[in-house]
Amino acid sequence: MPVELLGKSAEELRDFVVSLGEKPYRAPQIYHAIYAERRFDFALMTNLPAALRARLAEEARITLPRVVRRFPSVDGSIRYLLSIGVSPGESTGNDGPKPAQIEAVFMPRDGRQTICISTQAGCAVDCHFCLTAQLGLIRNLSAGEIVGQVLVALEENRDALAPQTNVVLMGQGEPLLNYDATLAAVRILLDPKGIGLGPRHVTLSTSGIVPGIERLGREKIRPSLAISLNASSDEQRDALMPINRKYPLEALLDACKKYPLKPREYFTFEYVLLGGVNDTPEDARRVARLLAHIRAKVNLIPWNPGNLPYRAPSAESIEKFQDILVEKGVPAFIRYSRGQDVFAACGQLASIEMASPIVTQR
Ligand code: SF4
Repeated sequence: MPVELLGKSAEELRDFVVSLGEKPYRAPQIYHAIYAERRFDFALMTNLPAALRARLAEEARITLPRVVRRFPSVDGSIRYLLSIGVSPGESTGNDGPKPAQIEAVFMPRDGRQTICISTQAGCAVDCHFCLTAQLGLIRNLSAGEIVGQVLVALEENRDALAPQTNVVLMGQGEPLLNYDATLAAVRILLDPKGIGLGPRHVTLSTSGIVPGIERLGREKIRPSLAISLNASSDEQRDALMPINRKYPLEALLDACKKYPLKPREYFTFEYVLLGGVNDTPEDARRVARLLAHIRAKVNLIPWNPGNLPYRAPSAESIEKFQDILVEKGVPAFIRYSRGQDVFAACGQLASIEMASPIVTQR
């Protein structure tokens, strides 16, 4: 059975080439070819001798997620429905990873592209405003399946890439419940010899898995952290995000206070404004109190009307909410989801095959 190389770290590749009886210095050459040059066919790795290329073609493989469908939005975003777990021409068998469908979204804007990727197929967390939650957890993705989504999105748009790439781990799944594979992928994204993104250009968004946040704080190499808040009290958050019963606001915010932020690093708190649910001035004042001693900014995401029983906030309540946070010294920005017409907006990622609108958000 050929060995899958996508997702392997430089050290893992070294072990692999040594196991083939090759010199260890071949590993960084392969690593560079895959992640920095995006060459996925061994025949194109012309930095390697022909005999090694032929050997790799027999002993190894590089399996990118396969694009099943592309859903271009009127705003320029593209949602990709991707298939993972099966190589082209391969039967599914019983011993390989389970086939699944996931999504990634490519969003070009103002001299940069942002790529939103999934870390799990489906999700077990059950946030009530999220379509992905309705899938339940199908399975964890491997590091290669996570990093592969970025490589596919970059290749698909190769001729139109802006100089700056941002990656957000906000697609299907709770990244901190697939910790090891997610961090292995993040290390490749942040490695100057790998994909080479800066730490401030890779953001991991969590529903608030406290042990995962604590563990992330101990990592030497880590992404920026975004926390999906969405409520101003435990009662409200329990109702919207049942994970709050396990990790209530006090525990979550305490983990944030103890998190070793680097100079100029801050948390992003995402707050989906649901009309008549969590968008009152009193909510805004409570959020400001909750975040008073945390270096944070807040992204306010007005709910996009869709298949779920919530309504959009009024323009007045959005503005008032922002004004109150800013007055209380909490930087707050209004973010409208992109790709809404193709189900690509935050939290809408539910492997939907059609191209008309719904929305959710993390
Ligand atoms: S918002 Fe995120 S954590 Fe919550 S159910 Fe959806 S994908 Fe899972």
